[in-house]
Amino acid sequence: MKRIFVLLSLLAIANLFGQEQRFQGQPPVNAVPTDSKPVQKQWKGQFAFPDQGITFSNEFDGARLNGLVQNNDSTYTLLITSENTPINTSPWYAFKVWGKRPMTIDVWLTYQANNKHRYYPKLSHDGVHWTALDSLRYEEIGKGDRAFGPGSLPEKVKMRLEVGPDTLWVAGQELENSARVNAWMDSISQKKFVTKSTIGKSREGRNLNLLSIGDTDSKNMIMIISRQHPPEVTGYLTMKSFVETLSSDTKLAKKFRKEFAIYVVPLMNPDGVDNGFWRHNTGGIDLNRDWANFNQPETSAVKDFMEGMVEKTQGKFYFGIDFHSTWDDIYYTVDPELHGNMPNLVSTWLDGLKERIEGYDPNIKPNGDLVPTTVSRNYFFVKHGAEALVFEVGDNTPRDFLKEKAEKGAEALMEIMLERIKDMP
Ligand SMILES: [Zn+2]
Repeated sequence: MKRIFVLLSLLAIANLFGQEQRFQGQPPVNAVPTDSKPVQKQWKGQFAFPDQGITFSNEFDGARLNGLVQNNDSTYTLLITSENTPINTSPWYAFKVWGKRPMTIDVWLTYQANNKHRYYPKLSHDGVHWTALDSLRYEEIGKGDRAFGPGSLPEKVKMRLEVGPDTLWVAGQELENSARVNAWMDSISQKKFVTKSTIGKSREGRNLNLLSIGDTDSKNMIMIISRQHPPEVTGYLTMKSFVETLSSDTKLAKKFRKEFAIYVVPLMNPDGVDNGFWRHNTGGIDLNRDWANFNQPETSAVKDFMEGMVEKTQGKFYFGIDFHSTWDDIYYTVDPELHGNMPNLVSTWLDGLKERIEGYDPNIKPNGDLVPTTVSRNYFFVKHGAEALVFEVGDNTPRDFLKEKAEKGAEALMEIMLERIKDMP
């Protein structure tokens, strides 16, 4: 009897623990003003210490390093600050460091008041290939005890780095700045059914680029966007694999592209990404709060494009997806009671994804509060009737699992949409 009681208690504890381990999602989004505000851009240059032969630099697109103090010959403290406040806890950092001769240095990462360290350091020698810092060379101070959110983060961290004449790159996530994104878009545009074009300019004049895939005369359209928030690289990587699967040479993808036109804006916020911003555009605004007001050029360009395509083709957007990153994998969907142009597409799709990945139980948070539209998902659904969701990927989700979810997700979506489009008037 006693033994059963102990077992039941253990099960109860395990259950509580299990709940704490599942991400509960963000609180509901509130509408906020989206008129432009000033942002502070970082000073760009080299922080050089000739006596030790050590130089740090933020002279590249996507860098974030705002200040630096030398503590002693081998210890340096870096300060990372945001473009403006208030702002989410998504403190992006990226810098280069090199030394005249090989040596070991300790580098502290510190943040402005009320912020903490979030992104586990990644290292590279070419800015393209990245590996996580060895955990034995990483120390966290003042770590919170929560499973998710700012309460789970340390206040600052120390990294032990080997530096030398070969430049070392250190960043919060893989560096996917506008040059890298454009190179990917150029390479996928080599396929004869993919076209790269420009639908507008960012506030700083960078191109807002679009991929058009498949039959662009089709009245059946889908919209894909990512990277409204600069540090959300895992969402971007997932979008990339998703789009590559839709553009692949499988029978299914070929069939899908005959029936549907696929439109993709992979980099919604190129200014924010290249300036190393934590969240906003150069108007100082969270772009994913501007889908009712359309005060910013980046959101307006997508609105004008989508509404222009509907007018031109007299067709419909059936599906809209916006890729992001957060504390853990989660899907923010539209309440399945609400029906758009292809009712229950998203719930059927997520069931399909669950079936295709063994042992996978998608974390789904539906929402029925869609007006004012404020976020992209609500605009896709309310204005266009597109079945829509926010596809959120964890900061630390293994990169091969991101890819698997994207590939199997794209396959399931193509199958379901091809089946459902037959019944459409
Ligand atoms: Zn986001």
